[in-house]
Amino acid sequence: MMQLKETAFDAFLAALKRLDYTGYAEQYPPFGSWEDFTGRREEILAAWRESLARVKEAGLFVNIPFCRSRCRFCFLPVTPIGSSGPARKRSFSLYLEALDAEASIFSPVFKKIKMSTLYIGGGTPSLMTPAETSSFFALLRARFDLPQGCQTVLELHPDDVTAEKLSVYKACGVNRVCIGVQSMDEGVLAKNARRQGLGRVAKAHAALKAHGINGVNIDLICGLPGQEKASFLRDLSEVIALRPDQVHLNTFINTPYTLHAKAGGRSGAEVAVEAVRSEGFRLLSEAGYQKIDSDSMGLTPGSRNRQSADLSGKRSVLGLGPGAVSRAFGAGRYINRTDWPGYRELVLKGFSPAVKGVACGPREEMIYSAITQLTDNLSLNLAEFKRVHGKSFTGVFPYEAAELGRAGAVLSGRSLKLPKNMWGLVRRVFYQPGVISRGLANIRSMKQGR
Ligand code: SF4
Repeated sequence: MMQLKETAFDAFLAALKRLDYTGYAEQYPPFGSWEDFTGRREEILAAWRESLARVKEAGLFVNIPFCRSRCRFCFLPVTPIGSSGPARKRSFSLYLEALDAEASIFSPVFKKIKMSTLYIGGGTPSLMTPAETSSFFALLRARFDLPQGCQTVLELHPDDVTAEKLSVYKACGVNRVCIGVQSMDEGVLAKNARRQGLGRVAKAHAALKAHGINGVNIDLICGLPGQEKASFLRDLSEVIALRPDQVHLNTFINTPYTLHAKAGGRSGAEVAVEAVRSEGFRLLSEAGYQKIDSDSMGLTPGSRNRQSADLSGKRSVLGLGPGAVSRAFGAGRYINRTDWPGYRELVLKGFSPAVKGVACGPREEMIYSAITQLTDNLSLNLAEFKRVHGKSFTGVFPYEAAELGRAGAVLSGRSLKLPKNMWGLVRRVFYQPGVISRGLANIRSMKQGR
């Protein structure tokens, strides 16, 4: 079944990653193999109906496309609007109108669905004033069933924390925040044009605790331009001293979409950056943190953002906002247009803002599940696989199991265990011919500048 030899396949994966502006390269089917999904409102609604008939549970993800300014290391398609002034105010006023228009497209299909999680990401959601934040939550609650107490996570810039905002977050049901710290080194922040007050992180963390928002994740990035190993480890030690319940260690990805890359900047050697990040995980482990997924560790097994944790299970997520990704389990996934004006124009006319997507049936979900577990845990729990998908792994994937066995994986009655990280091989074994051919076609189009 393998279509490409090892070296050609590795080059294929690297080229697919370069197509990715979402951070979704690790999905299956991978983002680089997705197709044009413009003008497919009815197909998308049908996919949701099909999916929700199977799994009557979903999470809601809302993307806010604005930031005060653009950090040089960031690959996300954000629109800088400043932290105060008329541009900020007008942007959020237009955004709330557009978000409501998009929500109205989907709310009839979700009428009988209780949302199990709400994640508000960006961009910088904490740029909203308290009044805008209240309107934002009221809008969502009017369109969807968001039960009290459902995990509600909001991404927060450390400079945005005020007592008034925290009171509103609490009143709106926010019970978990994700503080995008990235770095606390003055030199690194300056080099990356990131505006962030020094010493704000500890204050933000203390204020959150004082307001009873105890679920706190802190994000750091390893391998940032201008960052030395000692600087990253110093940041991490300061974060560990605060004892947030989750710490997320990202790796700097110098996609063609960062300002750093556009100015000809490079990233550090992948192996060296990974070695520093591994040392970070070791420090977290020594401090009592446990592994949650390949990028984060938590103080307890429950210290996690439930929307993105264990996406190898039966999870559906409806994404709203520019650049939001949706996953209708067993039916499809797609991404909205990332450009804010284009997104707005479409939703106000009642059109779907989806731009790329892929049909994703039960077999693709099983492959995604297997790839994710074999990558994150180096092991696949066979009973869990059967519980989630209703099928035996070895019954569905005998060729793949045998191929991994030839490379040293051990299959027992309970699990399939890899002897070491086999990132490339796992993908080479599972990637289907259709994914490879669509990915190659997209790579050719990129090269031809289409
Ligand atoms: S890193 Fe965060 S604050 Fe900086 S541009 Fe990206 S989303 Fe905005």
